[in-house]
Amino acid sequence: MLRFEHAVFQYPGEDFNIVDDLSFHVEKGEFVSIIGPSGCGKSTIFRLINQLLQLKSGEILVNGTNISGQKNSCGYMPQQDLLFPWRSVEENLCLPMELRGDLTKEEMKERAAEALRNVGLENQGAKRPSELSGGMRQRAAFARTLLTGAELLLLDEPFSALDYLTRISMREWLLQQWQRERKTVLFITHDVEEAIYLSGRVLVAEHMPITQLTSIPVPIDYPRGRETLKLPAVLELKEQLIEKLRRDVA
Ligand code: ADP
Ligand code: MG
Repeated sequence: MLRFEHAVFQYPGEDFNIVDDLSFHVEKGEFVSIIGPSGCGKSTIFRLINQLLQLKSGEILVNGTNISGQKNSCGYMPQQDLLFPWRSVEENLCLPMELRGDLTKEEMKERAAEALRNVGLENQGAKRPSELSGGMRQRAAFARTLLTGAELLLLDEPFSALDYLTRISMREWLLQQWQRERKTVLFITHDVEEAIYLSGRVLVAEHMPITQLTSIPVPIDYPRGRETLKLPAVLELKEQLIEKLRRDVA
């Protein structure tokens, strides 16, 4: 689904490559998390995939094709929900379809309504984002990301601004969505427990600059419940990941 081949990237004005000869891949249908110390370049990787930034050398492939020139190769959900405050929730959801420009107004409204039902926001379409709770706004933003139609979803710390209990519910909710939608998800978090709970595999950015992402499989099956986090194998993996990350901070 996604492949980095010897990717190199440098911010203008910096004197080093923040992504340096990075290769990794994600298979279709996987849920993979990227964890790493803050500032190591995780969001930069997403900005490269969604083409807000361009590689210096190397390649990024989606479905076997170089991304440059590909439109709509991924759906991107940044940390802040970025819903437009002056648009209603429904109008926000229509935005990616308006940009594509291949549907009538009626069709767009229908799809937006269906997407809202799917994320548990039935009858909330007429409200402004400011009238929703933080968790509801993130669900609306997720629905909008799905409506891009992309197979590959990039979620950048989507729950980090939510309170603890909401975050826990949103994780369970996201796994249900993933199992229903069968999309490929790449998920950035700095929360080790969140990464383990959600992912089939965790990619650890051990160093800055990012020269490699160490792939660590999560040895538990889906579907997963909260009790999953108490399994000895999970606790051990959590310790192992925390140690890996601490080594780099120290
Ligand atoms: P992360 O998401 O892992 O916390 P980022 O990918 O956002 O980190 O940023 C990685 C590093 O690149 C940070 O040290 C940041 O200061 C730097 N950086 C981010 N954007 C720019 C930019 N536009 N120009 C120069 N440096 C940047
Ligand atoms: Mg970031």
